[in-house]
Amino acid sequence: MNKKIYVDNAATTPIDEEAFEVMAEYYKEEFGNPSQKYSFSRNPKKALEKAKEEIAFLINAYPEEIIFTSGATESNNWAIKSVFLAGQENSTVITSAIEHKAVLAPAEFLENKGYKVKYLRPNSAGEITATALKKEIDSQTKLVSVMESNNEIGTIQPIKQLCEIAHSKNALFHTDAVQGIGHVKIDVKDLGIDMLSASAHKFNGPKGIGFLYLKKNTPLPPLIEGGHQQNGLRSGTENVPAIVGMAIALKNNCQKLEENQKKILALENQLLSQLKIPYQKNGGKNKLPGLLSLSFSNQDGEAILHRMDLLGISLSTGSACNSKTTQISHVLKAINLSSHMAKGTIRISIGKQNTPEEIEKTAKALNKILANTPC
Ligand code: PLP
Repeated sequence: MNKKIYVDNAATTPIDEEAFEVMAEYYKEEFGNPSQKYSFSRNPKKALEKAKEEIAFLINAYPEEIIFTSGATESNNWAIKSVFLAGQENSTVITSAIEHKAVLAPAEFLENKGYKVKYLRPNSAGEITATALKKEIDSQTKLVSVMESNNEIGTIQPIKQLCEIAHSKNALFHTDAVQGIGHVKIDVKDLGIDMLSASAHKFNGPKGIGFLYLKKNTPLPPLIEGGHQQNGLRSGTENVPAIVGMAIALKNNCQKLEENQKKILALENQLLSQLKIPYQKNGGKNKLPGLLSLSFSNQDGEAILHRMDLLGISLSTGSACNSKTTQISHVLKAINLSSHMAKGTIRISIGKQNTPEEIEKTAKALNKILANTPC
């Protein structure tokens, strides 16, 4: 196998060609600081406004509801720590047991500061149900944060329903939409949400840039203070080239959303049909196209990852071994996957750039490796 095959698109995605080219212009020529008053800064400033308008349009928001951040980790930290930043003592935050660490770590921060945090458990398909939220929510709840879709098993959550429940108790609703945005339709007004986190590099944009959608009139104290950029809400000189690249990448993905989904689903079906070894597919029916969490009985996911890597194929795993123990992912644990299946779990995430030939080689390599290596 000579050409490398990348099927880990949930980890990051290749940069959109148009985004890359336009970004170069903003690094090399239009490099002015958008906050300066002279004409040299006019174009970078305009580019920021245009990017805001484009992103807002693509998720059905208003431009002033988009705040640029360094990515979803920052956006999530901001949204979750908002109760602490606002000094809302004696309040409860509800999140789920299957969130990314970028939500779970700030939730733990809140717990350490004395806030109560409740973690909703998913059903076996990885869904956080309305019933689960109704059981835990009460008048003390100030914020509910449930991810739009899961990064390990791909389950898409019933966000609109969960948001309605949060609002019925006057709690704000935040969603980490990192995996879904640019891949499935997201309409913030239809969902009714108050905050949403996104990272550009998950939708073929550059790394280290993202945004927080903040619904008009939603109170949110700044997390990062300094030079008063972005109306004082998020200080720091804006990363103009990356912001411009992010807007182009999102536009290009959203314009071909259905076409990409169709192509990716066909590749997903091809892979599954070419697998010769029995597998269990995790994550239920309503899931992200192309994100496959597959468990193989009596196998070692980490060993599969390394063997596939030797063949030039990059994929991910659901467990990590050290010399003494196997760390099973919190998501697989939460959906009650037995430890022997969790240990043999891999994640393949197919992107729009993958080809049927690459998928065939991936399936063949897996068939070969799994036929020879029970652990
Ligand atoms: N949330 C989810 C669901 C993710 O998958 C990731 C990245 O893997 C993040 C948040 C963090 O994104 P970033 O590292 O771009 O800040």
